[in-house]
Amino acid sequence: MAATLEKKSGLFIAGRVSESAGGSMDVLDPADGSVIAAVAAADAEDVDRAVRAARHALAGPWGQLSPADRGRLLSKIGAAVAKQAEPLAQLEASDVGKPIGQARGDARALGRYLEFYGGACDKMHGESIPYLPGYTVFTQYEPLGVTGHIIPWNYPMQIIGRSVVAALAMGNAVVLKPAEQASLTSYAFARIAHEAGLPAGVLNVVSGYGSIAGQALAAHPDVNHVSFTGSSAVGAAVQAAAASHAVPVTLELGGKSPHIVFDDADLEAALPLLVAAATQNAGQTCSAGSRILVQRGVFEQIVTRLASRFKALRAGPPLMDLELGPLISQKQRLRVLEYIRLGRADCRLAAEGSIVPEASSNGSYVPASLFVDVPPRHRIAQEEIFGPVAVVIPFDDEEHALDIANGTPFGLVAGVWSADHARLMRMSRRLRAGQVFLNDYGAAGGVELPFGGVGRSGFGREKGMEALRSFAALKTVISRHG
Ligand code: NAP
Ligand code: MG
Repeated sequence: MAATLEKKSGLFIAGRVSESAGGSMDVLDPADGSVIAAVAAADAEDVDRAVRAARHALAGPWGQLSPADRGRLLSKIGAAVAKQAEPLAQLEASDVGKPIGQARGDARALGRYLEFYGGACDKMHGESIPYLPGYTVFTQYEPLGVTGHIIPWNYPMQIIGRSVVAALAMGNAVVLKPAEQASLTSYAFARIAHEAGLPAGVLNVVSGYGSIAGQALAAHPDVNHVSFTGSSAVGAAVQAAAASHAVPVTLELGGKSPHIVFDDADLEAALPLLVAAATQNAGQTCSAGSRILVQRGVFEQIVTRLASRFKALRAGPPLMDLELGPLISQKQRLRVLEYIRLGRADCRLAAEGSIVPEASSNGSYVPASLFVDVPPRHRIAQEEIFGPVAVVIPFDDEEHALDIANGTPFGLVAGVWSADHARLMRMSRRLRAGQVFLNDYGAAGGVELPFGGVGRSGFGREKGMEALRSFAALKTVISRHG
């Protein structure tokens, strides 16, 4: 069984488990704070070995595979992931603390990414460009080489799917640095992929601390692209490190996404998604719809109905599969509680969910919290909280809604609910965001749908066919033949 909990996990380099020069880190269960395993803490030397293994793999059978064969291999890995979906979900639930149903969704998404990108490998066609008489010009997509992937703890399997799998589909070789709090499914996935036939060195996993392993990977001179998902501050440091050797980066950073409801919206359809978009994965979702903007005509009604839904949200152990699990760590819990304190001081707490008695007092649980009377410039309406906290803000008309919606440094996702098609189109054009949902909101959903930010939410697109372009070098071939 590839996806079971191993008490001690070494690095995964060149298809083998190897000891780390940098020691190990404890893996904590966020539901009760207990130590459930230990994983390697890579240092710069380990990262260098992983990068060399990836470089070496590019010169081996991996580099010779036809795109169709590469696609078949990814599809085969996808089938293996689907078979192991339950143990993968169990592993993620205990490592990240997410309700098992949500972890199952993440395992399914990883399988689906492998299916999608498996089918896409042989569809990245270049073009032929009409030029001068006597010339033939064409373009082709080539792998960039070694790609480095630094990912956060909130959705390890989904982010492996949209970042690592897309890079593999383009024929790159990968070094993956998972978050220090959640490395287990990265290792499990690497083992599953190799058991399914991925050649040694094509996917290397180096768990470790961001300031050591992450920094070493971003700054490594033989890495050709860095894909980073995480906070804006660390993203800027990664970009600077990658700039030292002039390689491209994809930055998937945070958000404070507006979820906008007009008076004429279908409230029955909107309400469940307003709640889910803000509280999925206990709000630890970059695309969480954490700012709920409501037109005045339905404001009181929505606040009342949202409040009763928020009161009903229960946080509890992942295997109880309630609406919320614990947050990733005590540190994150304290951070979120501080935002709740700020909200209570200046705004009105309209509703609070519960923590069930079965939850351990050592777990990092925070109740879902809904705030009203929140000035749009207040910190809880401006900063990414990354916990189950939503604010509700009234607006008068389209201009006013846009003003508030576009009034943060972020621009990841936006959602708009209205029965007026022309209004939806106007809003979709003017919202500053990488993705806009109209009469829907899918935090992190849809493997086919290009995803990424503007402003402080980052740049570059992952997911869909667009991701393949990020992980490819376009070559133009100019032939003068007379
Ligand atoms: P983070 O602190 O930025 O960490 C992200 C990753 O970067 C982790 O693997 C981390 O390692 C590593 N890292 C830390 N310092 C580094 C450095 N100096 N050089 C290179 N790598 C370094 O973010 P987080 O707190 O784990 O995750 C929460 C944030 O991620 C939120 O802001 C959220 O919005 C964002 N996020 C964005 C998306 C998106 O798609 N836009 C998706 C998920 C999360 P350690 O684990 O050791 O710190
Ligand atoms: Mg963990």
